[in-house]
Amino acid sequence: MRRRDRGQRQRESAVSLEKWIPRTHLGKMIQEGRISSIEEVFMSGLPINEPQIVDTLLPDLQEEVIHINLVQKQTDAGEKSRFKAIVAVGNRDGYVGLGSGKASQVRNAIEKGAVNARLNIVPVRRGCGSWECGCGKLHSVPFEIEGKTGGVKITIVPGPRGLGLVASEVAKIVLGLSGIKDCWTRSFGSTRTVPSFAYAVFDALKQTYTLITPADWVR
Ligand SMILES: [Zn+2]
Repeated sequence: MRRRDRGQRQRESAVSLEKWIPRTHLGKMIQEGRISSIEEVFMSGLPINEPQIVDTLLPDLQEEVIHINLVQKQTDAGEKSRFKAIVAVGNRDGYVGLGSGKASQVRNAIEKGAVNARLNIVPVRRGCGSWECGCGKLHSVPFEIEGKTGGVKITIVPGPRGLGLVASEVAKIVLGLSGIKDCWTRSFGSTRTVPSFAYAVFDALKQTYTLITPADWVR
């Protein structure tokens, strides 16, 4: 597991943003200042097809490499091996993304995963769904949520303030990047399969917004 410190990430982001020439309608609107927040992007319903959109609107974005493994593939020319990286991003304040990338070099796999994670970023609805707490602050999940991916199932249960994240290391990374501070988790299935487990957590967090309309997002 590797973690980039903030300074390094910001330096890299600054370089890529300096050279950014938007290719999409949404990208152009952001560079022209017609859209200035990530909330507006999700309200617009326009797809995020450029990672710079996310870096521009969420300058405090953090990145964590969750998993790297070697993938072997049999081709006509023989065995070909590539690295696969799973990367999570988030601003620790209601936005999280998860992505993967494959390349023959680890560094390139991570870069591709980091770009993919940005393109997959989603808002996470937080709240205090804990009956023991009832503080009304955005420290946990608003209600119990469930996520599933490839044989792994996870349930995230609201917890009281000060509880912390009662979860596995991988779940803690994804939950932490989303801005959730307190919750219980229960998981079932092949939970040791790190990529599936990470995607199951991400799937659960996406569920926080499936029950309400986009008009509720900016409230
Ligand atoms: Zn509370």
